Amino acid sequence: MDDCLFCKVGARKIPSKIIYEDDRAFAFEDINPQAPAHILVCPRKHLVSLTDAAAEDAPLLGHILLVAAQIARERKLLEGYRTVFNNGAGAGQSVFHLHLHLLGGRVFRWPPG
Ligand code: AMP
Ligand code: ZN
Repeated sequence: MDDCLFCKVGARKIPSKIIYEDDRAFAFEDINPQAPAHILVCPRKHLVSLTDAAAEDAPLLGHILLVAAQIARERKLLEGYRTVFNNGAGAGQSVFHLHLHLLGGRVFRWPPG
């Protein structure tokens, strides 16, 4: 997708702080962090949201989750961390390339806002 912000991040066409990448996924620092640690984990495949994902995407989605868990271990987010997919504008999604928010380093309330 030529006009997708996160496709461009993954292709290093726009500057970002990429902290992890492989052939299927990449992770980078959120530009407007909502916690001391706030990282976005994306598939390279352009999926709009979970709603856009199909059964064939199950291994890719599992990989995204495991990348987040590995980063949380490396960052020593020992008190706990939160992983969030916002799906659709009504849930707060503003960039329409599927991404998992990994947030840590502070206390999180429940229910979320
Ligand atoms: P969402 O609102 O769930 O779609 O999340 C989009 C996230 O992308 C927000 O937390 C933004 O702060 C973040 N974001 C937007 N543009 C950039 C960028 N160029 N580099 C890093 N993070 C970004
Ligand atoms: Zn994209």
